[in-house]
Amino acid sequence: MSSNIRVNRVCQYCGHDFVAKKTTSRTCSDHCAKMFYKARQKAAKMEQSDNETLAIKAKPIEEVKIKEFLNIADASKLLGVSRWTLQRLIRRCALPAIKFGNRTIISRQRINDMFSSNPHC
Ligand SMILES: [Zn+2]
Repeated sequence: MSSNIRVNRVCQYCGHDFVAKKTTSRTCSDHCAKMFYKARQKAAKMEQSDNETLAIKAKPIEEVKIKEFLNIADASKLLGVSRWTLQRLIRRCALPAIKFGNRTIISRQRINDMFSSNPHC
């Protein structure tokens, strides 16, 4: 059922002025409506993809936060420093670590102790 009202609107897809027969019309033509729908779907998919990427990136740090003993890679992720910086600290005995075969294990408690006994503060 068509109405007799005429409303001046601006197309949300192409930006041109048009006369709408309904107050809810957002686009000037069927083509613009399809393209506007497609653009919204694309934006929603991109946002969902970005959210999934952020969740994947955040997951490893959440796993590291609950561990009591960390390897070099986990400790560097937790502290935001490079693995070489950590190995330098371990070599200088500034950060206690234990070798299990080829693996170096750092106690999370020792990392926390470093911050509480910092001589620069
Ligand atoms: Zn349009």
